Amino acid sequence: MCPLSDEALLDWALAPAEADPAVDRHLGECPSCRTRSQAVLREVADLRAKLAAEPDRRRHHRDLARLLGRIGEIDEDERVVRGWLSRDAMDPEALTLLADLTARRGERDRAVRTLASVVEVQPGDKAAHERMARLYERLGRLEDACPHRVTLAALSPSDEAAAAAATRCESTGEGPPAEEVRGELVATATFEGGADVDLAIVLRDGTRVSWMGGKRNVRVGEATSVQGERLAIGFLPNGSYTIEVESIDPQFNAGSSVGPTSSIRSSCTWIATRIGIRRSACIMR
Ligand SMILES: [Zn+2]
Repeated sequence: MCPLSDEALLDWALAPAEADPAVDRHLGECPSCRTRSQAVLREVADLRAKLAAEPDRRRHHRDLARLLGRIGEIDEDERVVRGWLSRDAMDPEALTLLADLTARRGERDRAVRTLASVVEVQPGDKAAHERMARLYERLGRLEDACPHRVTLAALSPSDEAAAAAATRCESTGEGPPAEEVRGELVATATFEGGADVDLAIVLRDGTRVSWMGGKRNVRVGEATSVQGERLAIGFLPNGSYTIEVESIDPQFNAGSSVGPTSSIRSSCTWIATRIGIRRSACIMR
């Protein structure tokens, strides 16, 4: 199996001369990665053609949007997701992908609002409420988290932990205890320069996992710190994952630190195996 991310492989397939030198060196001596890079190229062309031929099929929007998310083609991805939403403005999956993309651009407040709209179109969805409750708790916005805790308790009358969490926030205004950041994949980043930066992992299906959730068993430390952040995922199958570091653009985020944060976006590919994690390629731009 080729250990490089599909994003790195596609960049190489499109323009080997402009690709990361480490990636180029690896591809020069690895036939399986060269084969894989051509397969990715074909897959993208295929899905684009399918969507163009049948623009009203939800599945084509979904498949292409997820593939583009995985390979980091954020601009095109957003066009596809918006085209999907123009056909069904209430599709929770499309709204969630739009929130992921917005977050990947560093527009955190707008991403949070988009995720909140997912709950509005699915008021009975426990996972969506849980995601919002946790997200607001990590931001320290306990007054925004509490209504979701109360709803969760109402949706699960026999769940004692849900009831306790609702009572805690309603009667004491307190947040949950600090999370224990451990799991099969733990990513830690420390930052210099005083900018708020988010750490995210992009899964094979294009889903972005971060302090904003995206997967069960996500644990986060210091989500809004300007010094660093830790992100852990409880369980991950073997495979390659892209770790992204995104600077939060203060222009779009009232509570963020000020300072000249150019739009940095870097990504590293890590390989998760049962025996550990191995870094294979890191691309800074
Ligand atoms: Zn290889």
